[in-house]
Amino acid sequence: MEEYKKTIDVVEKETQVDLSQGLSSTEAQKRLKEQGRNEFEQPPGQTMLSKILHSLSDFTTIILLVAAAISFYTAFSTEHGDLFEGLLIIAIVIINSVLAIVQEGNAEKALAALEDMNKQVTSVLRDGQVVEIDAEEIVVGDILILENGSMIAADARLTQTSQLRVEESALTGESEPVMKDADFQTTEEESLGDQLNMVFKGCTVVNGRGRAIVTATGMQSEMGKVATLLNGTSQTVTPLQRRLNQLGKRISLIALGAAAIVFLVGYLQGEPLLELFMTAVSLAVAAVPETLMVIVTLALAFGVQKMAKKHAIIRRLPAVETLGSASVICSDKTGTLTQNKMTVRRIWRHGDEVVDAEDAMTEEAIEVLKIASLCTDVIIEKGEEKTYKGNPTEIAIVRSLEESYHTKDELDETYVRIGELPFDSERKMMTTVHKHGKKYISVTKGAFDVLMPRFRYGDVEQATVVNDRFGKKALRVIAVGFRTFDEEPTEMTSDYLEKDLQLLGLIGMIDPPRPESKGAIARAKRAGIKTVMITGDHVVTASAIAKELGILTKPQEAISGAQLREMTDQQLDNRVKNLSVYARVTPEDKIRIVQAWQRTGATVAMTGDGVNDAPALKASDVGCAMGITGTDVAKGAADMVLTDDNFATIVDAIAQGRTVYQNIRKAVNFLLSCNISEIFIVLLAMLFGWGAPFTAVQLLFVNVVADGLPGFALGKEPAEKGIMNEDPIPPNESIFARGLLQKIGINAAIFTVVTLFGYYLGTFVDFISPWVDASHEVGQTVAFLILAYSSILHVFNVRSERSIFNVRLSSNKSLFEMAILAIVITTVIALVPFTQSLFSLVRISFNHWLLAIFLSFVPIFVNELIKFHRLPDEEEAEEA
Ligand code: ATP
Repeated sequence: MEEYKKTIDVVEKETQVDLSQGLSSTEAQKRLKEQGRNEFEQPPGQTMLSKILHSLSDFTTIILLVAAAISFYTAFSTEHGDLFEGLLIIAIVIINSVLAIVQEGNAEKALAALEDMNKQVTSVLRDGQVVEIDAEEIVVGDILILENGSMIAADARLTQTSQLRVEESALTGESEPVMKDADFQTTEEESLGDQLNMVFKGCTVVNGRGRAIVTATGMQSEMGKVATLLNGTSQTVTPLQRRLNQLGKRISLIALGAAAIVFLVGYLQGEPLLELFMTAVSLAVAAVPETLMVIVTLALAFGVQKMAKKHAIIRRLPAVETLGSASVICSDKTGTLTQNKMTVRRIWRHGDEVVDAEDAMTEEAIEVLKIASLCTDVIIEKGEEKTYKGNPTEIAIVRSLEESYHTKDELDETYVRIGELPFDSERKMMTTVHKHGKKYISVTKGAFDVLMPRFRYGDVEQATVVNDRFGKKALRVIAVGFRTFDEEPTEMTSDYLEKDLQLLGLIGMIDPPRPESKGAIARAKRAGIKTVMITGDHVVTASAIAKELGILTKPQEAISGAQLREMTDQQLDNRVKNLSVYARVTPEDKIRIVQAWQRTGATVAMTGDGVNDAPALKASDVGCAMGITGTDVAKGAADMVLTDDNFATIVDAIAQGRTVYQNIRKAVNFLLSCNISEIFIVLLAMLFGWGAPFTAVQLLFVNVVADGLPGFALGKEPAEKGIMNEDPIPPNESIFARGLLQKIGINAAIFTVVTLFGYYLGTFVDFISPWVDASHEVGQTVAFLILAYSSILHVFNVRSERSIFNVRLSSNKSLFEMAILAIVITTVIALVPFTQSLFSLVRISFNHWLLAIFLSFVPIFVNELIKFHRLPDEEEAEEA
């Protein structure tokens, strides 16, 4: 029989669980072994072999393999052929593939670790306690604790429901949430959408709460049945990666064109055909910045790791880039800008004076706390020290009550709760119904302005004055009202219960700002980023805190949700840049604020935690969900999760996003300068009739060792000093903007000139050394050394906008180590006779060495000169 047709007792028996205790942890462990993890089967990952095959099927690799084959053919079929050349090309292809696979593996590992961090946790009852566990460890028989915003982790039969509404569109396609009912019983066949006593894996609770016994997990769940091999992580390519990919292709085309010209010119000059072909092919291959994509992935992965260390977990990779462009942060107040540690400061009971909760509690004030405490869902755990769990606003009330020598437990016993209308940010109030002796009482607490029209008895005017006074002191105000009934209320609805209330009093509580908020807001401001506060709190309270934090300077920058709703989109667009505080907003208003900002061209980061925040999180450019207080739904909709719920973390993440972008630009500068110069060096030498300056193997070596090794470490460069003193990166800015293209052009030109100069001297000028005569091979050796050394040294030019003397080598150790390694390998190859002949190098004189080394440093001199000239204006700009 299907689970929904069974009674709760039957399901309880069949799954062998005690409803009040849940499973014991040992039993759960045992079942986990038997039943397997609560996850969908994943498609097998790529094996090493398929990765190698994939990298070998790369277009450039194929060209190289063809070149190797031709080289082998010539080695066997002609007399002066060289067997080593073919072997070397193959060796280099392998080294290149291995390097790429290893580095990609590193990046993948970093990104896979992300998945672990984004794992879903879920609340279950075990050993009589509500605990949070990894959702994949849920077993049949576990009791799920469902709350507003939870993601349902397994199929389960409901045992308790209170206003529980579940959104099941992922399974049924029906977007309207379904009201669930634990008492629903049927013997009829029902479709999934009509099984009202069941909840299903992958759906979300959008309202109310409930408990349920797990009946199926993983592939046995309804979602598992329809999900044939779900793709766990869809490989996301960021927009920048896509753009760079295109750039890579364009450069390949240019390189191919250049190769064709080289071939043609050489042919006309009567160069040996096969050698020409090899040079042309190697040029085509060498000029392609293959390592660029790997370096970009590494930079992104490294950025993601660093963000995770600073409490920002990236859920979607493109967010790393978007963060760098963020120009507005729309932040919740409570818990993000403030500590969400509410403390009751003032209490006013209708008809009495305001009482300072810390100084002199009165019986009247305690009465307000008592009644309000009834209308809370705070769980008190009595260990060595009492701990309170639940909504901070409610905790403040209960704690204040308990500090006045009363307990919530004793109240709950005399006022037994028989019904409730839960709190949500939209309603901004909640109600509970209690049986007290033979009578019934309903307690409603919530925002004063929401409750005001619902009070029928009591001096509302005086309450308004008190509410205003509390607000100006930055206090959050909770109004408390009640109703008594002789009979049990017939309807548990808002229309019936939340009207004709008797005003009881007001509770004012303080939520101090986080100490780091003010600094972070100032830092964002310097970085051209505006902070906007969006809060459910009252406009007076919100403004008081916003002022303290430096968000609000003029009172007219704050408006309430009601005022917002009166504005047309056009009116909002006109004012949005001058508004910094939105009070008493509902989650729906957030979307309008995001969109209005986006229409001004801004890139908007938006925070959120509740179910209803999900659309705004999705609509924003970087949705940031709260890790601690956030619901699963909000996290699912977000691009980034803040594990500490802290505003300052967003600002840190933006700085990191900018750093990643900066490092990618550095990598582009580094690789393209060298690759483009290679094209020009070969092309010009051929046009001048000087012969090919490099052999195929030499070019390949430069690309893999001199460019590859140090390049990989560029992604780890720390941020440039003034990174948060600049404006945000315009979202569609070309990667070459802000002078990068000029820089690449200048550097490519310098490389070309110095290498050609060295090549010319080595090939044609005898007086360099009395012992070694000028020859084509000497010229090639000198050119090879210059290109390799200057490429390696160029990494120190690109790593900072500042002079290399102002950047500590230890700030990126792996870059330094890789550069040294590359220099040592190049030098050894040029010195050891065996490798010399492998790479078609020859012994050169001491003077040639000096020449090569001197010319290799020329690009550094020129770059230093440029930096020296440019920096003073930039520093001025920074100061300004
Ligand atoms: P922010 O939007 O800045 O994060 P918030 O999310 O805490 O603030 P809400 O939770 O939407 O704001 O609260 C809005 C208003 O609802 C509060 O100002 C308060 O008056 C009232 N309120 C908050 N919590 C409760 C509660 N548990 N019961 C009744 N009313 C509440």
